[in-house]
Amino acid sequence: MISTLQQIHQGKRYRLKDQDKAQIYQEICTTPRCSRKAMIRKLQIRPTTVSKIVRELIEDGLVEETPERLQESRGRAQVVLRANPDRLTAISLTVQARQLRAVRLTITEEVRERYTESLSPDVSNEGFLEACLRVYRGVTREVIPGSEILGVAVSLVGTVDGARKRWVSTARWRNIQNLDFGLLEQSLGQPVLINRMQDAELLYFIQKNPAYREKNVLLVHWGFGIGASYASRGKLLESTVGRTCEIGHMRVSSSLARQCQCGAYGCLETEAALWALQGNTPLGENHSLFTQGILDEEELGRQFREIDVSVNPLIENALKHFCMALYNVHQVLYPDTVLFLGPVTENPWVFQEITQFMRRELPSYAKDRVEYLALSGGFQGCIRSSVYPFFQRRLESLLKVRSF
Ligand SMILES: [Zn+2]
Repeated sequence: MISTLQQIHQGKRYRLKDQDKAQIYQEICTTPRCSRKAMIRKLQIRPTTVSKIVRELIEDGLVEETPERLQESRGRAQVVLRANPDRLTAISLTVQARQLRAVRLTITEEVRERYTESLSPDVSNEGFLEACLRVYRGVTREVIPGSEILGVAVSLVGTVDGARKRWVSTARWRNIQNLDFGLLEQSLGQPVLINRMQDAELLYFIQKNPAYREKNVLLVHWGFGIGASYASRGKLLESTVGRTCEIGHMRVSSSLARQCQCGAYGCLETEAALWALQGNTPLGENHSLFTQGILDEEELGRQFREIDVSVNPLIENALKHFCMALYNVHQVLYPDTVLFLGPVTENPWVFQEITQFMRRELPSYAKDRVEYLALSGGFQGCIRSSVYPFFQRRLESLLKVRSF
């Protein structure tokens, strides 16, 4: 976020001096040992403007003067300025397997506190909200004086109606229905935003890699569930329901098929999702791929990277169905880039098989135009991108010049 602060006013009405203020703040955030004089030279902003803006930033607690001095060949020694990352913080909640994880992040995206709680499979709406309150308290115990908590972002799975702040449903916790996060806002007295994890993850990737704002990007998650998110030229594909790109629930086989966690029959997940594969004895016993019972996708990713799955008939079958589904999704969306996330595609052989299949099968006009990237480490970006709107809103107001 700090690398794009200077664009914070774009798209709205702003004055030139507001733009100067955003640029100066970004410069202080991103430059080690920054001084007023160096900024005057580098940013070509008038000395009086720089000094007035820095004074405002110091008054608002966003910037501090350090005891350090920079001595240049001519003139007075310059005070070294630094950003105060703890001035603004926000809380990010994510669900991972059957855990609720909370972190408190600073404006520089550093994690200050973490707190995790395990939830039972039959947790109710009330039970989930109470857990949110507990993890919130868990990560706000050491907030330093002067630090402002801006809000709570919750990244979720399943059907997520972000506009109405309702978690409609999820296969992971069947008792959760239409959970209203407005109730959490009331209990905390803090703004709460909710989003789908895959969407937030894709937005993070685009934010960090600006070249992809001009492209069509498909993110595919293959883990315990299978899902996707799609952004066309930086804009997410959305629906009024709260779900898109549910490729895990595309029908890939008919009759006699297994029932999916969603209740339907013949979904891709029944052939390829880890929840289905783990429930299958040959995978666990004859081909002992990974220790049964591990629910952490990060840990599973580490295991998948090391093991040979090329001789496993279940993986072979899963891969066959996954590739077919991906091919069909490609024919609908025509992505320029496909990002793979999740433990299965961290396996180099699996990744290679998928890309070879796509290059072989796609029509000639498309096959050489698609880039494939495997991300490792599971859902990490959503933790950060989900809280950007809070920082964005608060800094939009703090980075307007107020006194001249
Ligand atoms: Zn399904």
